[in-house]
Amino acid sequence: MKAIVAGGAGFIGSHLCEFLLKQNFQVICLDNLITGRKHNISGFNAGKRFEFVRTDISRHASIPGRVDVIFNLASPASPKDYLANPLKTLQVGAAGTRNLLDLARKKKAVFVMASTSEVYGDPKVHPQRESYWGNVNPIGIRSVYDEAKRYSEALVMAFHRRFGIPTRIARIFNTYGPRMKLDDGRVVPNLIDQALNGKPLTIYGTGHQTRSFCYVSDMVEGLFRLAGCPDPMPVNLGNPQESTILEFARLIKRLTGSSSRLTFLPLPQDDPKRRRPAISRARKLLGWKPQVSLEDGLGRTIEWFRKNGHH
Ligand code: UDP
Repeated sequence: MKAIVAGGAGFIGSHLCEFLLKQNFQVICLDNLITGRKHNISGFNAGKRFEFVRTDISRHASIPGRVDVIFNLASPASPKDYLANPLKTLQVGAAGTRNLLDLARKKKAVFVMASTSEVYGDPKVHPQRESYWGNVNPIGIRSVYDEAKRYSEALVMAFHRRFGIPTRIARIFNTYGPRMKLDDGRVVPNLIDQALNGKPLTIYGTGHQTRSFCYVSDMVEGLFRLAGCPDPMPVNLGNPQESTILEFARLIKRLTGSSSRLTFLPLPQDDPKRRRPAISRARKLLGWKPQVSLEDGLGRTIEWFRKNGHH
């Protein structure tokens, strides 16, 4: 089997490449390295079964030969990164997804879209089910990411309906683990870096907003299973264990043994107040649920940051 992973040098993408190689796939990784890094994919030792192509899928996407499955994980995903690259983020969700869908159609390949819990915006329904249409500010600072992903979903469904190509949509909730960029601005690398270096832990707003964090190995398993499931409608992938950011910060302090204090900073605009996936569709369709607890996953992530924090 041959897979393309767009965004394969990124955080989740690189773990997906590694997983597919372990399943004996041939893997072609496409990445423009705006937020992805060569370092993430340098240790696979898969010889000819792994190929990296530095390319921008927003411009074009073509690969010779047969392709069985295309995973589209190409996009900046951290608020800090997509706010720094607003037009590229819109472009990759629109033209990038379109180019990969054209390729999937030509190759008769399965197409898996990495969408996001951000399609639910600041949700008025809790927990979030796939049937919820969301509450997104179309002109807010986060809209470059949220609306790009919503448009990607619309494109995927249009290709499925118009051309009958086998498509899947994963709505990925907050995911963490090794290979997150130390400076990508998200809460997991920020707090771990601060805790390990004795800096104050930065809490935005009151810290009572919630997130539900999924360890990356669980996410990748879910994405792989989704590729093999013929249902084109969106499936939430995430860990339903919800915590406030304050609880999360205290857990990181405990696991790192840090004596850093907490410092409170202004809450960014449109920051969702609560987020937790309903995963009954994933359970039923994929026989999937997260296996790694927050403590275990954070333990592994902290270990990795201790050793690799300088990257
Ligand atoms: N956050 C925080 N301190 C930080 C970074 C983030 O309190 O140093 C908060 C942020 O305001 C949000 C949550 O943590 O409520 C998760 O933020 P992140 O950027 O990781 O991802 P999001 O789920 O917002 O895309």
